Amino acid sequence: MSKDCLFCKIIEGTIPSRKVLEDEHVFAFEDISPQAPTHILIVPRRHVATTNDLDPADDAIVGKMVRAAARIAAERGFADKGYRLVFNCNMAAGQAVYHIHLHLLGGRTFTWPPG
Ligand code: 5GP
Ligand code: ZN
Repeated sequence: MSKDCLFCKIIEGTIPSRKVLEDEHVFAFEDISPQAPTHILIVPRRHVATTNDLDPADDAIVGKMVRAAARIAAERGFADKGYRLVFNCNMAAGQAVYHIHLHLLGGRTFTWPPG
């Protein structure tokens, strides 16, 4: 928990969110500004500022984040058609919230390169 972190506050419930799932290690909620018909953020409960700050001990949690995204994609019915998973890291990638989050975007076709 980092006291000035928006996503820590969402996880603890002091800032409201539209929760999608939670377990012991992972919390998922709807993005406030969706960029696709489905846009969900999957975050670890542990505060980690960027993907550069992950420890070896976080490997299992990152795996849980990715598998949670795949499970949500299946539940929403676009797992087979396809979806996009994104981690933005630091300024050049447009990271705005410094608590790592996996974007799950689905429900439309995506282009590449992403811009
Ligand atoms: P980033 O640019 O850091 O990869 O993504 C941050 C994401 O957090 C953005 O997609 C943005 O819309 C979302 N976001 C920012 N503030 C809030 C908030 O208060 N609630 C929710 N649910 N999403 C937020
Ligand atoms: Zn945090």
